Amino acid sequence: TVNSIPDENIIQTNEEASLCKLDAVKLGYWQDPYLPMMVHGSLRHERKAPDMYKGYYARVKCVERLVLQFIAAVRRARGPDAVVQIVNLGAGYDTLYWRLHANAELVRQGKMRVVDLDLLPVTTKKCHFIRGHKQLMDLLIGEVRDGEVAHGELHSDEYDLISSDIRDTLQIERKLMDNCKLDPKQPTLFIAECVLIYMSTGSTKQLLSWIAKTFHTAAFINYEQVHMDDHFGQIMFDALKAQGCLLADADSCKSLEMHEQRFLKTGWDGAQAADMNQMCGSLPQADVDRVDRIAMIDEPEVLRQLFAHYSITWAQKGGADIGLDKIRL
Ligand code: SAM
Repeated sequence: TVNSIPDENIIQTNEEASLCKLDAVKLGYWQDPYLPMMVHGSLRHERKAPDMYKGYYARVKCVERLVLQFIAAVRRARGPDAVVQIVNLGAGYDTLYWRLHANAELVRQGKMRVVDLDLLPVTTKKCHFIRGHKQLMDLLIGEVRDGEVAHGELHSDEYDLISSDIRDTLQIERKLMDNCKLDPKQPTLFIAECVLIYMSTGSTKQLLSWIAKTFHTAAFINYEQVHMDDHFGQIMFDALKAQGCLLADADSCKSLEMHEQRFLKTGWDGAQAADMNQMCGSLPQADVDRVDRIAMIDEPEVLRQLFAHYSITWAQKGGADIGLDKIRL
């Protein structure tokens, strides 16, 4: 293996994240009619505190807002027929492709390619869920074909699901270019939502360098823990370690500046990071108020602490001519 972490523990983090997202969707934090079709219902799961659900809401909404800004920038600069490529690294059961397709405005516009990438046990289940739901299959364009790994991968004209370990850049390069036919000359957005923390700092560096070297115009949205060196952060860090699935060293997510530096040191032109308290300010206030009415937050100070320990980084390279450098968190 590339490193010593047992994959089962990592895979379990997706089940947990998906179940929490599903709870939040059922409680009305945001709408996602596709998620219930992805999540395996038979797992044991305890109800979480409202802070957690608000955290998931902010995470999903802030990532979605940046994705839409990326698509808008590409279409504005390159015209409505421009191809938009999105690669969701460690996608888990994320429903981004289907959510984008539910956005009539986007569908009327040009071509999109979305690639979901995860470890084989995760993509095998996702493949099974997709093939098992007519509503999900109906939104795939063109013929739906098996991938290199039958039952674990699939391809269609605008959506690909592939299994790969993102610590192995040679393998992802081969799969993205040869099997998914991504064009490194087209603007490409990479997303990593709670994923890089499960890799060594060296593997992340290698991945970010590879993207910057390979894609002419690229953007990256990274959602990850921050300030893992203070008291609250240490508790979070130890809990992750206790689950047996943490490999990044605490240093790599010590500060917002370190999150930015990670990109700037690996060939990216610009990077800006903000914590989730700051990011929440970018969401429509009326919607945040609506969410706050779903469940009372008992201790706003605890929520503020929690949000101070999660961050989003927006990075871009080669994107100035299409305005990717103008996108603000
Ligand atoms: N991004 C999804 C979301 O936010 O709902 C899933 C997040 S889950 C906490 C982390 C995901 O990253 C898991 O699905 C796991 O399998 C995937 N992952 C972790 N390390 C990976 C690696 N080296 N290669 C591919 N996927 C990986």
